[in-house]
Amino acid sequence: MIGAGSARAVMSALKNGKGEEDVENIAYYNGRTGPIEEMMVPMNDRACYFGDGIYDAMFTAKHVPLSLDDHLRRFYRSADKVEIRIPMPFEALRELVLKLCAQVDSPTAMVYVQATRGVGPRGHAYRFAGESASLWAFVRPDVLDPMDRDYRCITAEDTRFLHCDIKTINLLPSVLYTQRAEARGCDEAILHRGERVTECAHSNVHILKNGVFQTAPCDNLILPGITRAHRIAQCREMGIPVLEQPFTVAEMMAADEVFFTSCSALCCRIREIDGVPVGGKDEALIRRIQRAAQDEVDREIEAFARK
Ligand code: PLP
Repeated sequence: MIGAGSARAVMSALKNGKGEEDVENIAYYNGRTGPIEEMMVPMNDRACYFGDGIYDAMFTAKHVPLSLDDHLRRFYRSADKVEIRIPMPFEALRELVLKLCAQVDSPTAMVYVQATRGVGPRGHAYRFAGESASLWAFVRPDVLDPMDRDYRCITAEDTRFLHCDIKTINLLPSVLYTQRAEARGCDEAILHRGERVTECAHSNVHILKNGVFQTAPCDNLILPGITRAHRIAQCREMGIPVLEQPFTVAEMMAADEVFFTSCSALCCRIREIDGVPVGGKDEALIRRIQRAAQDEVDREIEAFARK
């Protein structure tokens, strides 16, 4: 594992002019780097034919990739679950991500890593995939969803497959749900299997009821969100009871507060679902959770600067 000192050294070497120049965005594919608009990938990469790959994504604040190790650990876990061997050890990938982050001008950015099974003629079995998996990454300017506004969502039956715990690049259902939400002027789609709420198209959804933070348990029906885990840990630290137990659509509609979390949404309060007002009954508690989320980011940035 690279030491914290060397991580900082990599960043400052690049920032102080000794390294590469700042750029608007940067992408990486199997050892090549360049502006994302100029990168070319082979048509035979199995991403194109099968979506045969996994990914992870995080955000930077003040150039610091937030919860980097948590996201990279999940990236390797997703790869294990689909038997893809990421062609770089954890420490080297960590260093690569830090280098890429350091080269991008914008202090807030989205950081994306992806591994696909490799490049080879179209054929379902792994043996067509070539020698080595492909490694992709990019860093591009983006901002966190603000926590001081209210969000609107739609609901939709969750018709995804039964491996939602794996962060695969097969995102067609999420694309369709997101489009449906946008077409209705909403920010997210909340998914449910029958009455049971699972998660959103690209975030986890939670409720507050009688002072308790309730969220779906980590099984094969949801992605184990890194942000979800951080909010749970913080609530426990603050003495807020946490219940990892499924809740229904009706319970959500009647909850004191409803909110979603993801790497780009630390704790976003939902005030309308399918055109019906929701939440708004425990503003003090949700604001407390939001403040704790922001404090955690600030502490992480400070800790990074000290290393
Ligand atoms: N659920 C789904 C389906 C997602 O795509 C995401 C994020 O991309 C999340 C939950 C939230 O995960 P995280 O907090 O790790 O970003």
